[in-house]
Amino acid sequence: SRKLEPNTPCVCTPEMMGAIHRRNAIADVVRRAAEQDGFTLNLQPIWSESARRFVAAEALCRLTDDELGPIPPDEFIPIAEQIGVISDVTRFMLERACAFVRSYRDAHPSTTFHGVSVNFSAVQFIQDDLAESVLAVVARHGIPASCLRVEVTESAIIANPEAVRAFMEKMHAQGVRFYLDDFGTGYSNLSTLLELPFDVVKLDKSILWSVTEDEHLVEFFALLASGFGVLGTQALSEGVETPEQRAFLGRCGCDLMQGYLFSRPLPPEEAAAAIAASEGR
Ligand code: C2E
Ligand code: CA
Ligand code: CA
Ligand code: CA
Repeated sequence: SRKLEPNTPCVCTPEMMGAIHRRNAIADVVRRAAEQDGFTLNLQPIWSESARRFVAAEALCRLTDDELGPIPPDEFIPIAEQIGVISDVTRFMLERACAFVRSYRDAHPSTTFHGVSVNFSAVQFIQDDLAESVLAVVARHGIPASCLRVEVTESAIIANPEAVRAFMEKMHAQGVRFYLDDFGTGYSNLSTLLELPFDVVKLDKSILWSVTEDEHLVEFFALLASGFGVLGTQALSEGVETPEQRAFLGRCGCDLMQGYLFSRPLPPEEAAAAIAASEGR
């Protein structure tokens, strides 16, 4: 391998310069949004095939800049983590998600809508009083803790197993539910996952998209879905875009589905209307 001499100037292509410039521009936008609550909450309803209605929703963060336009979360969330403002993103999302649950329950007192899930990042589990501060937000909004669901990725667990476990145990004892996010994309350590109190396992959309009508894969998928069921965890498939995918999941016994076929992520008022309509209200 070639060694760089000290003081060798970096040979930067225009593309690299462009990428660095965009990254820095986004970092500025994210920093400003973190200071000024400049993010937006979207909610993507989650469908239950057996209940035939939306039973929950995922909170997804949106960020738009006057000059840069809408910035995809896959681009700004890693930057928010790097510049140390991800806990501001989560706090914002948590506040808005709890406010949504509160207003939906107030408007529909007999609803069977379960609640909203919020994405947590691996890097924030180092915060000592994380559980207490999250529970304080839930309490301030006057909603049952069971209406809050926390989405955690496998990589977060692997990065910080003890902190995640302690957080989950504290929160679970208060009734908060947990969703294991992006299952199938990481190096699954099944024993760690199964020891933790996950209510739902979210099968990454890449898994659904890679399966076809191959009967072996139907069996595999069904085994996966029912296997989690045996362990007391429900399977949810992400990225459901076509009626064929929905029918496939139905045959596999995967009850919970999330995807563009049912609904895109929506602003809160539109999500509330979609959920209410599915409940026949
Ligand atoms: P994720 O947690 O896996 O969220 C699901 C992503 O799949 C969302 O992308 C959603 O819009 C998209 N999606 C849902 N159904 C379909 C479908 O049928 N087809 C396709 N093609 N896509 C579908 P989004 O909103 O762009 O978010 C991307 C990622 O950014 C999320 O992936 C999550 O990792 C991260 N993210 C978003 N909001 C937050 C947040 O508030 N906090 C944290 N820490 N991460 C967030
Ligand atoms: Ca998620
Ligand atoms: Ca996911
Ligand atoms: Ca993802």
